[in-house]
Amino acid sequence: MSELKDHYRRFYERGVNAVRSKADYSVYESVGEYYEKLVANAPSYYTRFDMAKKRAAFYKYKGIKNLHDNLIEFEGRFTAGGGKVIYAENAAGALNEIAFILSQHTRKQLLLSSEPILDEIGLEAYLSEKGQDYTMLSLHRLFAPVHPETSENINKGLIKKLQAEKFSGNTVNVLDLYKKQSLNKAYDDAISIMAADSLVADIGGVVFLDQTGELAIQNSFSKIQIVVAGIDRLISSVTELELLNALKSTHRYGDYLPWNQTIVRGPKQEGEIDGPEEMYVIWVDNGRSKIMGYKDQRTILNCIRCGACEALCPVFKFVKSKSGENGHENHDNPLACVALPIERGFDKYAYLSFACTLCGKCQEVCPVRIPLPELILFNRREAVGRGHGFGLNKSQVKTLKKMFLKRKAMESPYNKFVLKASGIKKEFGAQRVFPDFSQKSFHVLWSEASGIYTSQNK
Ligand code: SF4
Ligand code: SF4
Repeated sequence: MSELKDHYRRFYERGVNAVRSKADYSVYESVGEYYEKLVANAPSYYTRFDMAKKRAAFYKYKGIKNLHDNLIEFEGRFTAGGGKVIYAENAAGALNEIAFILSQHTRKQLLLSSEPILDEIGLEAYLSEKGQDYTMLSLHRLFAPVHPETSENINKGLIKKLQAEKFSGNTVNVLDLYKKQSLNKAYDDAISIMAADSLVADIGGVVFLDQTGELAIQNSFSKIQIVVAGIDRLISSVTELELLNALKSTHRYGDYLPWNQTIVRGPKQEGEIDGPEEMYVIWVDNGRSKIMGYKDQRTILNCIRCGACEALCPVFKFVKSKSGENGHENHDNPLACVALPIERGFDKYAYLSFACTLCGKCQEVCPVRIPLPELILFNRREAVGRGHGFGLNKSQVKTLKKMFLKRKAMESPYNKFVLKASGIKKEFGAQRVFPDFSQKSFHVLWSEASGIYTSQNK
């Protein structure tokens, strides 16, 4: 079986399993409802919402367009503050760099935050394979609206309820309790591997956003910090942060700004109370520069990872691989429909571009106006051009064209029978009932209703 067919089969099975499993289905539905409310409420935070979205899209576009200059500026400023910047061309390169840094230190405690970029490079699997112990900081999973592992009703009310019932207090107490009870180990002797939300060129700053304070703990206490970020996370100026963070927050958390926003400009300086003694930023390309070579699809790099498109997509809100499952395959979302075939090859992931119904919901909810369905169509064109098209084959299209161009052929009961019995029915899938043809076509019904004489209704 080709890799493409194998990936597609697993994707299909994940979808069928999610819909069959009532627990999964209801969690995904409640995540969708949660996001519906956030997206509906988002415009109320802005005086001119459309203008805010346009401006944010421009900021991201500018960051990518000037990537080269921004990278140089970021590196210059960050290293001047004592930090180290490393470029990794792909996941293996990033893992090698991490392994090298770890080998230089004798600290035992390794803390990881659970972030898509760390999944993308396959960090957990790599560490397990090497027999390296680590602790996942997973408090945010409890609160994260997109995480499918809890069957709780996911909303802000739940966060408040948990804080009141389980942690009896505010966020600070939650953090204290988490630190004492869950980790029960010394943070201040730890190495942290974290993901940055943005990198800001004009201040050489690394930005972390979170809703629980978990990353703030990692920032303050761990002595060695390794920050992993895709090259698309770079923006030009700190003045752009407020709007970008606000749009992410209103579309992900339902607050104007995330509860914790931390900007770190390098290791601890003299006179500072806490912060890392050493800090590394690993820029990961991993196919992103390939996307830049596709002028029609490169807008996908403007994404600010709010998660709204995935949670509201009628396909991808149900089709999901669990975190870490299938290693690098953990990318069932509208973004992956565009990015993955380009980054990792149409010969393996072309099916993703055909998994979309082109309903347009993702574009409607996107806070940075990414026209996802259009980009997916560009990918389909690319896939077909490379011989990896899904759906009807050329001879089926030819037969249908012949049939649809002549009314007589279209109305023929024989042709209707052939259509039903042919591969078209198979394409419809086993999960859906192939509809019966109406006795009378729309053309005939309309002619009868309007009293217009045609050869069909005489
Ligand atoms: S257009 Fe496609 S990717 Fe976007 S929400 Fe609809 S089905 Fe999902
Ligand atoms: S593409 Fe999706 S995740 Fe990215 S900003 Fe738009 S809605 Fe959010």
